[in-house]
Amino acid sequence: MALKLTDLKTSAHNDWCPGCGDFGILNAVQMALAEMNVDPSRTAVVSGVGCSSKVPHFIKTYGVHTLHGRTLPFAIGIKLANPNLEVVAEGGDGDGLGIGAGHFVNAGRRNVDMLYIVHDNEVYGLTKGQASPTLGLGMKTKSLPTPNINQSINPLLLAIACGYTWVARGYSYDVRHLKDLIIKGVRHRGFAFLDILQPCPTYNDIQTKEYWAGEDLAETMGKSQPRTYKLEENGYDGVVHNNDHAEIQQKVQQAVLKSFEFGDHTPLGVFYQNEFVPTYEERLAGRSPSYKLTPPADQEIARPDGTPLSNIKKLLDELRVV
Ligand code: SF4
Repeated sequence: MALKLTDLKTSAHNDWCPGCGDFGILNAVQMALAEMNVDPSRTAVVSGVGCSSKVPHFIKTYGVHTLHGRTLPFAIGIKLANPNLEVVAEGGDGDGLGIGAGHFVNAGRRNVDMLYIVHDNEVYGLTKGQASPTLGLGMKTKSLPTPNINQSINPLLLAIACGYTWVARGYSYDVRHLKDLIIKGVRHRGFAFLDILQPCPTYNDIQTKEYWAGEDLAETMGKSQPRTYKLEENGYDGVVHNNDHAEIQQKVQQAVLKSFEFGDHTPLGVFYQNEFVPTYEERLAGRSPSYKLTPPADQEIARPDGTPLSNIKKLLDELRVV
């Protein structure tokens, strides 16, 4: 039976501020899951801590609202224990690129088959708008007493450098385009990273909805000029079509160059995609052929009377220091 959008909505109270970009992202995720007709009982949404990390409460699938910065270890653990699940990790830029930065880097090396969505609003919205790792040097949002003295992380550049095999950017108020990107990210074979421009109208008065719509440019240009554009409408092809070193190198280089475009001309869409890299699940199956047939989540761990099936005494004896 086809899944309806309402099937994926919960009745949990949502306390996001009016106009928050998180609403558009939540809608896009629900629309994407409905369009793909995922089985909610075979889908898990995992988050860390922050405004955006409340999403598992609002999406009617399995979900875990975990610890600050630990979105990826939880999500990767769930996916590796049960590779038949569709796993979507979701959280803020502070959660993923601040305290969770080490996990972000190492997730790129592994290429687990899942999607990681970052709501990128450049501030820590849940704790009153402190500068997050993606806020530019010298920027002063209304929540900061003085301009930011740290340089910002470029999430797309970092993801490409870390080995993510699908790297894209969306915009929270372009919900249909975002929905299409989420579908592509879920269907990608490997680790997909989606950075989403997400205005926080409460604490970030610089990257607002009006800023991205370029309303302030009307004075000089005669009309509003959106600051975002779509890569696919401008002849850009980030997909690696052949497992060829020269093509991979060329596609990585163009994605790196594109990742530096930000501000008045900010690209949206797929910067890079390479499905020729083996997933972590495939690497595990190569080492242990039974992994795919009986992954950990499908294994019996106890007899009917509750006694454990495994005996780890030998292992513990080997680890004993005498
Ligand atoms: Fe959204 Fe910002 Fe309000 Fe958090 S503080 S709910 S990110 S508008």
